[in-house]
Formats: sequence, structure tokens, C-alpha cells
Amino acid sequence: MPALTVGFDLDMTLVDSRPGIAATFRALTARTGVPVDADLAVSRLGPPLRTELAHWFPPAQLESAVHEYRELYPAYAITPTVPMPGAREAIEAIRARGGRVLVVTAKMGRLARLHLDHLGLAVDELAGDLFAEQKATALREHDATHYVGDHVADMVAAAAAGVPGIGVATGPCSRAELGAAGAEVVLGELTEFPAALDGMIQLALEQ
Ligand SMILES: [Mg+2]
Repeated sequence: MPALTVGFDLDMTLVDSRPGIAATFRALTARTGVPVDADLAVSRLGPPLRTELAHWFPPAQLESAVHEYRELYPAYAITPTVPMPGAREAIEAIRARGGRVLVVTAKMGRLARLHLDHLGLAVDELAGDLFAEQKATALREHDATHYVGDHVADMVAAAAAGVPGIGVATGPCSRAELGAAGAEVVLGELTEFPAALDGMIQLALEQ
């Protein structure tokens, strides 16, 4: 059995970044005059920023909106963001079993790093600016054995990398949606992760 290496999505899997991201969208609206429904935007986190901003900004303004959002992000998004229930314990459970922890996220790596450092979440590797099948490249590169995420696209990434996807229904996707997208296990929240991990390890040993 390969060494345990667990990848995690960031937004709505390890951290609840909704208040910080909503504040950043509001600051972007204040700066550009272009209305963004921040509450709607944070109800569907997961896809790349560019996808969300394309709902609000005309194509000619899209790239500058992406740039401005990222400029505003460190000042608005980091301090309001909190760990998801069970996030610290999930990371500790992997380390206690001799495993490594990866974060593979659609967010820019340098912005994801600000969250991890602010919250004191220590991970071994961080790969950013990746979505859906692109995440599989990072999972393979770092020899991930599992991928944990809250979005159906995260389950697609796990399948593309050939590793079990662990869905956690703390984001925009329901348990049923995560299951239908190929999750091997679906958790209500990360507090259930250590027991689920032991179950999966046990199952793999028996196979
Ligand atoms: Mg997510």
C-alpha cells in the first residue's frame, strides 16, 4: 500500500472563506462600480474566479476585474476566514498515521498560502490555480492517495487522478450530488474524517 498522502480542496472544505470572499466582492464593486451579488457568489464557490466574475463583468473588463479582485483579496478575505469544523483534526489525523497533507485548490497559490499561514494550518504541499481535471495533474505529481473536496468537480478530479474521492457536504453540493459525481465516501462535515479515513485504510488492507 502506498504511503498515505491526502489532498484537500481549500474553500468550503478546509476553510469557510465566505465572509472574506463576500467582503472582497463588495470592495471590487465599490472600486469598479460593477454590481456583484456577493451573497450569491459565495453560495457557489468552487469554480475558478474568472468563471464567477464572467457572470457580472463584460468580456472586455474581465481580465482587469480578475486582477483587481486578487489585489484586494489579501486585505479583505484573510482575517474573516475560519477553519471548517474538524479541519485541524483531519490534518492531525493524517499526520498521526504517518501521512502527508496536500492542498490542491482553484485559488491562486499565493492567496491560498495567506489563509493557511493565518490559520496556522500546516500542510506539506500546496498547488493552486487548478480546477476539476487540472487538479488531477497535481494529485498525480504528489502521489496523492485520496482527495477530499466539497464540489462535484473535486470528485471529478479524484476520479481523473485514479484515487478515491471523499466528498464533504459543507459547500454548494449535496451529499447526493457528491455521491453521483463518484465520491467513494460522503461526509456531512470534516469532523467525520478521521473515522472515515481509518475505514478506508482498513478496507484497502483487506483488498
Ligand atoms: Mg471547495
